[in-house]
Amino acid sequence: MPRHAPSTQLETHEVFNQPPAFIGHNLFDTDRAMCEAAVREGGDWVGEPLSKLGAVAGSEAVLELGDLANRHPPELVPFDRYGQRIDEARFHPSYHQLMGVAMDHHIHDIAWTADRPGGHVAHAGLLALMTQAEAGVLCPISMTYAAVPALRHQPDITGPWLEKLIGGTYDGPLGPIAGKRGVTVGMAMTEKQGGSDVRANTTRAHPLGGRLYRLVGHKWFCSAPMSDGFLTLAYAEGGLSCFLVPRIAPDGSRNGIQVMRLKDKLGNKSNASSEIEYHDAVAWLLGEEGRGVSVIIDMVHHTRLDTMAGTLGIMRRPLAEAVNHVAGRRVFQKTLADQPAMRAVIADLGLEYEAAAALTMRVARAFDGEAESDRAFARLAVALGKYWLTKRCPNFVYECMECHGGVGYVEETPLPRYFRESPLNAIWEGSGNVIALDVLRTLRKEPAAMDSFVAEIALARGGDRRLDAAAGRLADRFAGPAGESDARRLVEDMAVLLQGSLLVRHGPEAVADGFVASRIGGDWGRCFGTLPAGADIDAIARRQIEPLAG
Ligand SMILES: Cc1cc2nc3c(=O)[nH]c(=O)nc-3n(C[C@H](O)[C@H](O)[C@H](O)COP(=O)(O)OP(=O)(O)OC[C@H]3O[C@@H](n4cnc5c(N)ncnc54)[C@H](O)[C@@H]3O)c2cc1C
Repeated sequence: MPRHAPSTQLETHEVFNQPPAFIGHNLFDTDRAMCEAAVREGGDWVGEPLSKLGAVAGSEAVLELGDLANRHPPELVPFDRYGQRIDEARFHPSYHQLMGVAMDHHIHDIAWTADRPGGHVAHAGLLALMTQAEAGVLCPISMTYAAVPALRHQPDITGPWLEKLIGGTYDGPLGPIAGKRGVTVGMAMTEKQGGSDVRANTTRAHPLGGRLYRLVGHKWFCSAPMSDGFLTLAYAEGGLSCFLVPRIAPDGSRNGIQVMRLKDKLGNKSNASSEIEYHDAVAWLLGEEGRGVSVIIDMVHHTRLDTMAGTLGIMRRPLAEAVNHVAGRRVFQKTLADQPAMRAVIADLGLEYEAAAALTMRVARAFDGEAESDRAFARLAVALGKYWLTKRCPNFVYECMECHGGVGYVEETPLPRYFRESPLNAIWEGSGNVIALDVLRTLRKEPAAMDSFVAEIALARGGDRRLDAAAGRLADRFAGPAGESDARRLVEDMAVLLQGSLLVRHGPEAVADGFVASRIGGDWGRCFGTLPAGADIDAIARRQIEPLAG
């Protein structure tokens, strides 16, 4: 008999006082803040697609796919077995399945197919929900959604792409787009010597006749290199210009795009962010030579909305997991959720999340609007929202992790994964300072944007005197010049005021009062869990706990 054979006398000890696994929740139906904000801003109809995805994304099977896609990141396959270049990223099957779920639920195109207002609200809500299963796949999905307005600059060229993109389903393997059920589109702007400053790009475009060019150069970041095409910036004779670079060249061969390596990133593991080189890659010019930034900015504007929606998802999953944990574990004769210090933490996190949800859905509605005031508001508010939500996110996720105690630090829970994901939305699509400076520029150059902001805040006037006072102080600051070193402070104040105004108008009284008292009135500590004495912690925390824990 082997020395260490298992003994039949050894029984597993009883495992108790552990919460149930967080599986099988409808991620939309159990999220009061999101339900209320999405339906308010998008209309009743958005509830159905959101609830459908909420059920799927919260299912055990899809949550498992998210975990697997992160445990098995993509690999670069530069050559085939015979030494021919193929430049492919090979993904785990879970990645392809998640892409399928995302496109089956129309995250990439609902904004473009909706026959009534609310399409962008539905899109943002769907993206936030899917992020709770896995964030990495939302990068290609977001870029595909956001490419549409840029592609529309040149419909004679991009018509076949738009036809495949809108209404398309996921069709991963490389092939000419004519034979595909759907396409995905990426974006390649950033080069080694300059990302924020795209005018430092060195990639050159040489004309081949008509709208066709050949590109020579590199891109330092190109996420989703398996996309069917990329919107890219390169210098042509007339200046920095925007091109659509297909992976399959018009003659049916593989285009001259070499994937040099995949980035070894902090998080966002399932997404194959790469470095690429263009070796005479064939590309179509979109818009006019020299007008590249004004074409691609239409894409960036929409991916910025997704940095807000993605952040919402990155906040929500850890918060929901934290609530599940504290409601299901007892310490010192009470559930953690009933321990006053923990309830105060959950309430404070809940307030932060409620404000993030209200702001994201309001900004998404502005993307649906046709009026110039909507467009002006969207331009300003998406920058405010991106800046503020993404800045708040890492500490928020960390605090949700701590609610779990030790197990939150363990990779079997999704907390480490979401923690690693949490700084990313602040960096891409315009890093913090760039966004703050963008807000200053918009305020200076577009009076309609400032007017739309002031008008939005005024809708809450009379609802809370602390909010009114803060609005007055901000108006005084608008009257004077703002320097670049003040940009972050101004953006913070504007973003929090906007959040406060939305909660005062629409939020439950306890939520609005708690938010304004702490974030605007200044009666707040330095960490989460430090709401003022008068805050109705029970009412705020119940909105998080009841839907998940009953
Ligand atoms: C995971 C990941 C995936 C990415 N995927 C893509 C992709 O698919 N396609 C793509 O094109 N790019 C992609 N990027 C690149 C990303 O968009 C850039 O990294 C980002 O725009 C910043 O550019 P940079 O890295 O060159 O930094 P820099 O431009 O050098 O900026 C460095 C810092 O300086 C600040 N800064 C810049 N200008 C000013 C100023 N005037 N005053 C004060 N501060 C300033 C910035 O805010 C930033 O904090 C990706 C990045 C990451 C991390």
